[in-house]
Amino acid sequence: MTTPAVKAQPVATVKLLIDGAFVESKTTEWHDVVNPATQQVLAQVPFATDAEIDAAVAAAKSAFKTWKNTPLAARARIMLKLQALVREHMSRIAHTLSAEQGKTLADAEGDIFRGLEVVEHACSIGSLQLGEFAENVAGGVDTYTIRQPIGVCGGITPFNFPAMIPLWMFPMAIVCGNTFVLKPSEQDPLTPMLLAELAQQAGIPPGVLNIIHGGKRSVDAICSHPDIVAVSFVGSTSVGTHVYNLASQHGKRVQCMMGAKNHAVVMPDARKEQSLNALVGSTFGAAGQRCMATSVTVLVGDAQKWIPDIVAKAKTLRVNAGQEKGTDIGPLISKNAKNRVLGLVEDGINEGAKLELDGRAVKVSGYEKGNFIGPTIFSGVTPAMKIYTTEIFGPVMVIIGVNTLNEAIDLINSNPFGNGTGIFTQSGAVARKFQHEIDVGQVGINVPIPVPVPFFSFTGSRGSKLGDLGPYGKQVVQFYTQTKTITSRWFDDGGVSGGVNTTISLK
Ligand code: NAD
Repeated sequence: MTTPAVKAQPVATVKLLIDGAFVESKTTEWHDVVNPATQQVLAQVPFATDAEIDAAVAAAKSAFKTWKNTPLAARARIMLKLQALVREHMSRIAHTLSAEQGKTLADAEGDIFRGLEVVEHACSIGSLQLGEFAENVAGGVDTYTIRQPIGVCGGITPFNFPAMIPLWMFPMAIVCGNTFVLKPSEQDPLTPMLLAELAQQAGIPPGVLNIIHGGKRSVDAICSHPDIVAVSFVGSTSVGTHVYNLASQHGKRVQCMMGAKNHAVVMPDARKEQSLNALVGSTFGAAGQRCMATSVTVLVGDAQKWIPDIVAKAKTLRVNAGQEKGTDIGPLISKNAKNRVLGLVEDGINEGAKLELDGRAVKVSGYEKGNFIGPTIFSGVTPAMKIYTTEIFGPVMVIIGVNTLNEAIDLINSNPFGNGTGIFTQSGAVARKFQHEIDVGQVGINVPIPVPVPFFSFTGSRGSKLGDLGPYGKQVVQFYTQTKTITSRWFDDGGVSGGVNTTISLK
């Protein structure tokens, strides 16, 4: 979290969105939103008061009464408008996103695009929210299901995808007929606010989407508020576990997508050039701050000879501000994040891993104050080392050598996280064995960052996920709706009564 700051004018203030109005918070607690390449304060974000949080939930509760009855096609049309607006404003949003988060402009557009795909999918709600029908389950009796919205839903999002992850949440919740209270990351709230403005322009009625800002207090308020029925969370495993426990104790549906330690297995038969490009791109892209970033490279057998090639490729990456042309690696989100990663690199050295490439001293001309770390590579890593057991969330590759595919699979399945993994091979049999035996949510075969497209759902195993339904896709329609099952019989005029039936069977 950012350090509390005294509110200074004329820095812009981030607004709350309550009941269709963008309002100034009455809080006394403001935090700086900082450009991580320059340390320029871009805006100040309020930590909403309890009264403001209550007002946002009350607006959502009231709006639900009418929004839940809005025809499916009308909801879908708003999503059609929203996707057009996001597309139209892509470049403007990407500039804001890059400035507050640090990622390159191309990657910022990717962040928005992956969220936009979810909005596009939300336009298909007419078929996604269909129920089922079975005729004549007993004589003259039919059974059918309907999927109804559940009420006010809450969403809590992390800093690393300030466009994609809010767009994983509110479009699908709203298009299913629910109303929503979003609490974006306090580190980069400007992007979600731009999306919220577009959502209002698209025609989302007052109270259907509300935004509050803050930290732990706001999150705890969402998890325990009596008028919120479901909570979606994306962020670290420690906070996600707290959210899951608190919201569950308060009787809510909860889905928590959490931390990761993603292993990429490289078999000796892999197409070398393509595989190494994929590995280096997925490890160091977005400065390693993707939940699906490759963080552990597992070289099998003779592939262990490729370490110098990996190092050589990593050295070609350009570290610079995200807004500069040709940048491959931007800054880390905050000074705290940078210091945390530097501490973990120090731990790796002290624990005896071999530092093949050291990015700690990188200097970026014109951006001397930026939170930069260059590509850093360790080999000779063992599963007991802190750099293996901890999610580093920085541009650090940890390399482990093993002799066989079985050893690689055992290693990955023993790691507490199960978010993403990948294998690079030319053997279909090896790939099939891997996909079958690995206990990880997302599996890539010669694909380094296998984030599913929105017709599928984002998944996760073990320490990377709590709750059984994932964000977006068909699973999230189940999450955001309640299934009602109706069994009906209509009597013909003049039909003969079968008398009183005291059994459970339908006749
Ligand atoms: P975080 O857990 O620190 O923050 C997530 C949200 O929780 C933010 O809105 C933040 O304000 C709030 N929060 C922070 N501390 C809190 C506390 N003590 N109590 C209650 N709420 C608190 O995560 P982050 O640093 O913003 O994001 C990075 C993490 O998110 C990484 O662990 C990454 O792997 C994970 N992530 C996971 C996925 C996924 O789909 N599995 C996707 C993106 C990010």
